[in-house]
Amino acid sequence: MLVTFSPPMSLGPSPLRICRVCELEAYTLEDLEYFVKAKRFTHGRQNKCKNCHNKEKTKKYANLPEEEKEKARQHVRNWNLANKDHRAEYGLNWQRNNKEKVKQYNFRSRNKIRLEVLSHYSGTPPTCECCGENIIGFLTIDHIHGGGTKHRAQKGVPSGTEFYRWLKKQNYPQGYRVLCYNCNCAHGALGFCPHEIERSSDK
Ligand SMILES: [Zn+2]
Ligand SMILES: [Zn+2]
Ligand SMILES: [Zn+2]
Repeated sequence: MLVTFSPPMSLGPSPLRICRVCELEAYTLEDLEYFVKAKRFTHGRQNKCKNCHNKEKTKKYANLPEEEKEKARQHVRNWNLANKDHRAEYGLNWQRNNKEKVKQYNFRSRNKIRLEVLSHYSGTPPTCECCGENIIGFLTIDHIHGGGTKHRAQKGVPSGTEFYRWLKKQNYPQGYRVLCYNCNCAHGALGFCPHEIERSSDK
């Protein structure tokens, strides 16, 4: 007599993998992408999701003594060196597939360095030294004794966001101040700001 077993209907399909930390369940190949790769395991994945795995690693790392941390960092550096091409390709691919994230990241890091440098030269919140404008988007770093584009190019001073990074790297050299674009342009074009005339006639 032939006996066949079939699972009770109510149980449904059993998951391919279950995260033993957060109990996340993978039912499809796509779901498996969220699990840690491991060749010899069922379906090539551990019973641990990438999220929990990363959390554990971060925690472990934070608790290491400083010299162990340095060892770990060195290990990563060596790996990166040995896998340069792979890394470059992976990075480029990631950037291509995550354009929105890249944009956001750049936007945030630009704002961060700008705010940091402006605050250093002006205080928090940074304000225009001439008119008191305090909307960050209107503020810029002014080279007090001018210098001009040519002079800056000769000294290798970059422009744009790189200029802010450069100032920080140079340990915030003196001779710079925070002005708004209006006051900055006036200084550049006229050598003074009309606000100054306004103020002196008020007296
Ligand atoms: Zn998990
Ligand atoms: Zn101003
Ligand atoms: Zn002004």
